[in-house]
Amino acid sequence: MRKKIVAGNWKMNMNLEEGLNFAKSVDRYFREKPASKAEVILCTPFIHLAGVSEILKNSKVTLGAQNCASEPSGAFTGEVSASMIQSTGAQYVIIGHSERRSYYHEDDRLLNKKTLLAINAGLKAIFCCGEVKAEREEGRHLIIVKRQLEEGLFTLPAESMKMIVIAYEPVWAIGTGLTATPEQAQEMHYYIRGLVREKYGKECAEGMTILYGGSCKPSNAAELFSKPDVDGGLIGGASLKKEDFAAIAEAI
Ligand code: PEP
Repeated sequence: MRKKIVAGNWKMNMNLEEGLNFAKSVDRYFREKPASKAEVILCTPFIHLAGVSEILKNSKVTLGAQNCASEPSGAFTGEVSASMIQSTGAQYVIIGHSERRSYYHEDDRLLNKKTLLAINAGLKAIFCCGEVKAEREEGRHLIIVKRQLEEGLFTLPAESMKMIVIAYEPVWAIGTGLTATPEQAQEMHYYIRGLVREKYGKECAEGMTILYGGSCKPSNAAELFSKPDVDGGLIGGASLKKEDFAAIAEAI
């Protein structure tokens, strides 16, 4: 059975103290619960990584970052490399979130570099893809996601694919309150799994965790996660409220 994941993306929220307190309360919540069917990941801003890593020692909750540099080290002021992230104890990094693609103009070639660096540093990459509203309205959503995967991800050798989680995040659903219907999500996830199968074979495709992201909340999570190719969620806004995040994790 493939791994189910619920990953919270805190985005640029919470100062250091708030973030550490929040991580403590999430850790406490999951400690007291019977083992969740999903791996629960907190993807925090860089400033929280080392402190949250301490809090999550021996925890059921794991840690990730939201981005990494496109170079391994050196004179890149303000950047944080994949190996620096790994040295905090984080195990995951989100690559290619639509906010990075649009506000920071990160293209498929750059994201491919980041993904390779992340894997070489021993991090698992949560590779995001998804179409904007106009692309869906024009019926181009499948072709757009195919291009993002082919150029950003499918240059990887087969043995690296076990370090990859794919997150389908329709851009029109992120932070908007609009959610893909379970049928729209399933159509895309099934399509993505087919692309992975074509490129890397059946075993890799069947083992690939594919997350849905975009206004996922307690009221819609169970229906989305009930679809056969939806293996969990990447959660933005709702990951900032412990009760909502926990309810989403329990919907698996
Ligand atoms: C995200 O930022 O990855 C996301 C899915 O955001 P939200 O859940 O707020 O739509």
